[in-house]
Amino acid sequence: MPHIELLDQITIDKIAAGEVIERPASVVKELVENAIDAGSTAVTVEIEEGGISLIRITDNGCGIAKQDVENAFLRHSTSKIRSAEDLTHLSSLGFRGEALSSISAVARVELITKTREDVFGTKYIIEGGKGRTPEETGAPDGTTFLVRQLFFNTPARRKFLKTPMTEASHISDLLTRLALSHPDISFRFINNGQVKLHTSGNGKMKDVIYHIYGREIANNLIPLEFEKDGVRLSGYLGKPVINRGNRNFENYFVNGRYVRNSILAKAIEDGYKDFTMQHRYPFVAFQIEINPEKIDVNVHPSKMELRFSNQQGIYNLLYEAISKGLHEPELIPEVEMSG
Ligand code: ADP
Ligand code: MG
Repeated sequence: MPHIELLDQITIDKIAAGEVIERPASVVKELVENAIDAGSTAVTVEIEEGGISLIRITDNGCGIAKQDVENAFLRHSTSKIRSAEDLTHLSSLGFRGEALSSISAVARVELITKTREDVFGTKYIIEGGKGRTPEETGAPDGTTFLVRQLFFNTPARRKFLKTPMTEASHISDLLTRLALSHPDISFRFINNGQVKLHTSGNGKMKDVIYHIYGREIANNLIPLEFEKDGVRLSGYLGKPVINRGNRNFENYFVNGRYVRNSILAKAIEDGYKDFTMQHRYPFVAFQIEINPEKIDVNVHPSKMELRFSNQQGIYNLLYEAISKGLHEPELIPEVEMSG
């Protein structure tokens, strides 16, 4: 038997990256969530070749101070929590401090960032986990990440990538949801030089729905406003006439986070049951605001899964809100679309 040895940090990061960074869309998700956490009001995502050869994400958020830049790329380094106790009342999208170390372990990364307080910005290059010395540079306030040649040093991962078109469509779906969940942020998505999405950031979810899904859907929405037991629901329910054969039209966000959750999916299905045929799924786009102490997002590294402490309560609440919305649409004033 060979003797047992601890792996070096670069190898550890490369292996761990597999849990967080599966494909170009995972990089975009992590970096855009960071941009959102940084208080950005405008985020631009540019990709080439489905994000495999290039992803560039520019935000106008708080930036990273020069002395923090190298630390930001260390595994488990984060500005968002200080102890496990903070996990119980999490308000940011990130908290694991794993994204930057994971991305830089499996790609070539260039960061340019500047805080409002600093006169100069910082440029930092880190490729396959190996960082150069950060340099001073002129830069606007905010942060730009350039991520090139994803999985250049992990061929096993690269093999599992789909065509650039498929990878681009994953990114497009993701940005659609990020734009819907943050109508107050202007999102721009540029794929191979073409602008594919550009939301205004005016704060109105309905305008984002109109922009992404078009007039027919925007004209067939029932506003959802419901509050009970300290849980707030807001957004839109599609009228049952606009349905489709899969769940891709179901967008729900918990405290600004896009999640998949079987309880919510079931409540939507049951709430619409009397109004749609079997195996047809509605359009919905709504936010759930809930005390962070009543949920756990630290279930999986991708943070896509979420547990509610009171599952039955959440089911009942959503079911009741949907039934009410669908049974009394004529009682709710139609909001006319602008533009
Ligand atoms: P996490 O988001 O879980 O804290 P990350 O690895 O994604 O971990 O990021 C590490 C740290 O780098 C963040 O906590 C934050 O302080 C900083 N950071 C990353 N991206 C940005 C950004 N776009 N703007 C400002 N700070 C950022
Ligand atoms: Mg993060």
